[in-house]
Amino acid sequence: MSFTTPGQDFSPKDLTGTCHCGLVSYALETAPKWYSECKCTLCIRYGVLWAYYPVETVHVRTKADSGLDTQTYTRKDGILGMHFCPTCHNLIFWKGLDPNDPRVEGEMGVNVRLLPREVWEKNPNAEHRVTEGPEEP
Ligand SMILES: [Zn+2]
Ligand SMILES: [Zn+2]
Repeated sequence: MSFTTPGQDFSPKDLTGTCHCGLVSYALETAPKWYSECKCTLCIRYGVLWAYYPVETVHVRTKADSGLDTQTYTRKDGILGMHFCPTCHNLIFWKGLDPNDPRVEGEMGVNVRLLPREVWEKNPNAEHRVTEGPEEP
């Protein structure tokens, strides 16, 4: 199985993001079409690069024998949880705290910097968008 965007093929390995220690990973079904560099008060501190997907298309895994799960940080507005690896503390993804909250519309954000570097750095088909703010709590 391979995933295709115009002019470039990605293997499942290319679309698997892994934290530094390898405990947590995610697998995407399709390559990001665009990347979001969000400059809100939180994301600018993380230095994160996001791609957004329907929740059901992102397959998050933790090492089965670890007994560990992601740790979360929640902003004051209570909409999103930021999920981290419990051992290396890489930011993995955000997800709505309430899956039925219309403000997240069934989507989640994944930190694409966990993908192989060439996927997010050299993918000429993906647009890079910079979002200013809003100033989030
Ligand atoms: Zn880790
Ligand atoms: Zn942000």
